Amino acid sequence: MTPVENLISRLDKVKGRNGSWTARCPAHDDKGPSLAVREGEDGRVLLHCFAGCQTANVLGAIGMDMTDLFPPDEKRRDYTVTGKPSMKPAFFASDLMRIIHFEALVVQIVAFDIANGKTPNQETRERMLTAYQRIDEATRYANV
Ligand SMILES: [Zn+2]
Repeated sequence: MTPVENLISRLDKVKGRNGSWTARCPAHDDKGPSLAVREGEDGRVLLHCFAGCQTANVLGAIGMDMTDLFPPDEKRRDYTVTGKPSMKPAFFASDLMRIIHFEALVVQIVAFDIANGKTPNQETRERMLTAYQRIDEATRYANV
């Protein structure tokens, strides 16, 4: 089993193929696919939670650690010192769009409620802010 196969087998709601997936993040109460996963050409796994979870926490939630992201011959490299790989992961536009689309849907539902005279409560307003932050974060990755 490759590192990415090992990771994918432990995640829920996995979508995607050809070395690029989205899934539910196991480190927070994830209603949408916040987790983007990619397999690098050298077999290492890149992952990022667009809700802001630390990679180490995502892996810890499914019984893995940073060394599990690397093929056996890469495991010598100690990434646990900084807690993350030195390179910023690059994700496919289709995965970023899936995340943005979900958050846009959340915003749309609330906008519909407001249009029908409902006043959003505190929780809903905070969820709106989260949606904005996730879209903003995903957009920044798309610009890499
Ligand atoms: Zn998360």
